Amino acid sequence: MLRHSLRGKITLGYYAVAAIILVASLFFVGELRTLEMRVVLGQRATDLFNTVLEIRRFERNYFLHHQVADLEENAGYIKLAQSMLTDNQADFSAIVTQVRLQELNTLLGEYQHRMSAFTAADQASLEQEPRVRALGQELVAIAEDMARAERRQIQTTLASFRTLLLGVILTMAFMIVVIGRALSQRVVRPLKEMEASVAAISANRHESLSAPSNDREIISIIAAFNHMLKELDLRQKSLMRSERLASLGTMLSGVAHELNNPLSNISTSCQILQEEAGDCDVAMQKMYLEQIDQQTERARHIVRSLLDFSRERAFRKERVLLKQLVAQTVGFVRGEVSAKSVVRLSIPEDLRVAADAQRLQQVFVNLIRNAMEGLGPQGRIDISAQVVNAREPPAGTALGEGCGTKGEMVEIIVADNGPGIAADILPRIFDPFFTTKDVGRGMGLGLFVVYEIVDEHGGCIAVRSTPGEGATFCIRLPLEDADGQPAATVGDDNKGAQ
Ligand code: ADP
Repeated sequence: MLRHSLRGKITLGYYAVAAIILVASLFFVGELRTLEMRVVLGQRATDLFNTVLEIRRFERNYFLHHQVADLEENAGYIKLAQSMLTDNQADFSAIVTQVRLQELNTLLGEYQHRMSAFTAADQASLEQEPRVRALGQELVAIAEDMARAERRQIQTTLASFRTLLLGVILTMAFMIVVIGRALSQRVVRPLKEMEASVAAISANRHESLSAPSNDREIISIIAAFNHMLKELDLRQKSLMRSERLASLGTMLSGVAHELNNPLSNISTSCQILQEEAGDCDVAMQKMYLEQIDQQTERARHIVRSLLDFSRERAFRKERVLLKQLVAQTVGFVRGEVSAKSVVRLSIPEDLRVAADAQRLQQVFVNLIRNAMEGLGPQGRIDISAQVVNAREPPAGTALGEGCGTKGEMVEIIVADNGPGIAADILPRIFDPFFTTKDVGRGMGLGLFVVYEIVDEHGGCIAVRSTPGEGATFCIRLPLEDADGQPAATVGDDNKGAQ
């Protein structure tokens, strides 16, 4: 269970480091204990050596002053040395060989025997003095050997302890680094994969995040993120819907105007036919009936276009004849144009773009409506399009996935001679809900939706404006769509409605 959560992995990492530190500490405690024992043993060897020196000191005093007290002190120290040897037999055998210890014991025994033979008046015993001195020297030599050997051993133990300490510290550091790296990889890798998935979602290559690991925390973040994506999607769809409804409202008066023409033509033809009934010849009747048929078809086409625009449907690219689409849109929004304003189109008849017609129409509705809203009596809107060889993003504030695209693209310019846009609000006009219009007149979603649609097509939108002289919007759409299909080609198989 612990392995399937980030918290568990981090806790495991901490446990591993704590275990390493614990093992190392236990090891050092053991080593320190050995060192401590060595020091204690060294102290005992030194004590023995000092005792032997004391034996010799009282021996020398005795030979100088012949005092019984010195002899007694000497005897006392001999006993002390003997008991030291007996008590520490096992420990001392670790310093010198058993033979050498035995030798020391024997020498001490002989020395004691010879010293105990002395009395202050016994001259014969005093002749033993050289032999006793020689024995004493041998005792000192062996005790000193033992003390020196023990010091050497302590130094050796200290040196190896130092090397071990260094080795263990280095190993610990290495293992902590290795555990840290493994831990960070296990924790960071899923996060990195999530980062890549989020980038893919931003680039529209994925729709939802998939869990890169089965860690509990990651799974719940992914679930929350996917839920948020779903919610965002729903809200975006509802925003788009309300924006389309607003556009429909704008278009309705234009559509009514558009429908008026064919309807009045039909009505006129019908009236003539009624008035001339019986008088006019068959050819004439046929001509009026054909006119009625054509105008009915035109009216049906207008209604169908409006239905197409209002119907909610999935993004679908098709090869759209640009001029026809723009002309139709201008017709629909015409109701808003002041009588003296003009809309001029300069788009090659056969220029096509690979686009979702409904969404592209929404782009033009929003741009033309914005332009019209600020137009004065001499208002003019110029809409032009051509294929350009893009080298750098269009001039002005540019946004969209396709702004870095180089090569051939379709460039559409919508320019007006209205009031223009102040420099300080220019960078904000594509933000959702940014509007300078009065409450109830603008929702601030028009240009946001335009940007979204252009971006969805892999295009780029830029705006430049000189306040007082109008605003120019430049849209670039890729010439080819994602699967390499040419998006703008020459040719017409689609009769336009004007
Ligand atoms: P809305 O039209 O609801 O205000 P938009 O997103 O369409 O929202 O536009 C945001 C703002 O950008 C507008 O309020 C307006 O100030 C400015 N704007 C857009 N197009 C033009 C234009 N052609 N001329 C002048 N100002 C414009």
